[in-house]
Amino acid sequence: MPESRKIIVAKSAGFCWGVQRAFTKVLDVAVQNSNDLPVYTYGPLIHNPQAVQMLEQKGIGVIEEIPDRLDGTVAIRTHGIPPAERKRLEACGARICDATCPDVGIIQGTVRRHLRLGFFIIIIGHREHPEVKALLGFAEKRGACINSADEVAALPSDLGKVCVVSQSTQQREKFNSLVDLIRERYPDSVVFDTICRSTDMRQEEVRELAQEVDAMVVVGGRNSSNTNRLAEISKAMGTPTFLIETDDEISDSDFAGMNVVGVTAGASTPSWVIERVVERLKAI
Ligand code: SF4
Repeated sequence: MPESRKIIVAKSAGFCWGVQRAFTKVLDVAVQNSNDLPVYTYGPLIHNPQAVQMLEQKGIGVIEEIPDRLDGTVAIRTHGIPPAERKRLEACGARICDATCPDVGIIQGTVRRHLRLGFFIIIIGHREHPEVKALLGFAEKRGACINSADEVAALPSDLGKVCVVSQSTQQREKFNSLVDLIRERYPDSVVFDTICRSTDMRQEEVRELAQEVDAMVVVGGRNSSNTNRLAEISKAMGTPTFLIETDDEISDSDFAGMNVVGVTAGASTPSWVIERVVERLKAI
């Protein structure tokens, strides 16, 4: 390793407060489980395979479907779930541990309130993301998800009153440019900037850090939306960027001649995974 190689870890790397809160809540339920009934999460609690594995080792399983009958506790993950699914969970007899991030809860409340006021809801985000699926559930049949200029153009012109929200982990520039297009089509739309503060800070930091380093390592689940956004921002700054889930994926040759390497991580990446990456980068 060249003597001068420096590793700079972003201050915002790792668990955000919403993920930390969800983890603590679910682990508390498992620890205080006096009646020995099983504890599950409905879908992976967060989008990080290593963290989910750790929960499994502590006896917390994952259910993907809601059964007719379930004895035990089911945790709702940070992304939240549609109201209809919550009703089904309640009906199956499970005790519910709601770990929906409060920042996501605010978006759900905004959608619910504006639906009641007669608005059509436009959600800027990824249609297949669980948070967006839940928000579409809150919008009932009066909502649409868009993620490109073409999708804005394809919206019907007669939507009536329009309310716009964002997936909490949306990329800021994309949100701003799509809002501009939506306002051109629906000048009276009411827009709520619902990108969460943790995402904003993380994206801002990677933007700055990418300019200072020779290469950027983004650590996080490939299925994690906010991790992918961080890698996109770093790449867009022209910085060689490596998105990895664990230190095993680091290849010595990729970092030859790289004197300053930046490390950041998604909101669902555990600190122990980041530490191993840093150690590995120091060692090569
Ligand atoms: S990224 Fe933001 S919205 Fe998502 S869990 Fe973390 S704090 Fe909550």
